[in-house]
Amino acid sequence: MVGNRVSGCINHPGVESVARCKQCGKAVCKACLVTGPTGNFCSDTCRDKHQEFIRRAQELERKKPAAGNGLRKLVRFAIKLAFFAAILIAVGVAGIMFDIPVLSDVVRVVIPKIAPYVPFL
Ligand SMILES: [Zn+2]
Ligand SMILES: [Zn+2]
Repeated sequence: MVGNRVSGCINHPGVESVARCKQCGKAVCKACLVTGPTGNFCSDTCRDKHQEFIRRAQELERKKPAAGNGLRKLVRFAIKLAFFAAILIAVGVAGIMFDIPVLSDVVRVVIPKIAPYVPFL
């Protein structure tokens, strides 16, 4: 594979290059070529640098949906709270409607006390 191409291998002048390093742009021959999961490189150093770059980029991408998860958790928590409040009101109304003073007293006095200990229903 000896040719007179301008873009010969950086390590073997005169040897035709088969790829360019994705990290530094140097041309390399088949013998020097280092292939990684993210592309072709001239050396292990360049491959590792590029993979580190990709890894960091993906890490930044992952941070975005994390904020969305926090918001969804908050929304679910609010829905649970609303659901819990609706049940309390229903029980209280039932106690008053059916004239059960003991039950309505229980709702008025006990529920606000146990509510903080019942995070979800
Ligand atoms: Zn390189
Ligand atoms: Zn070479």
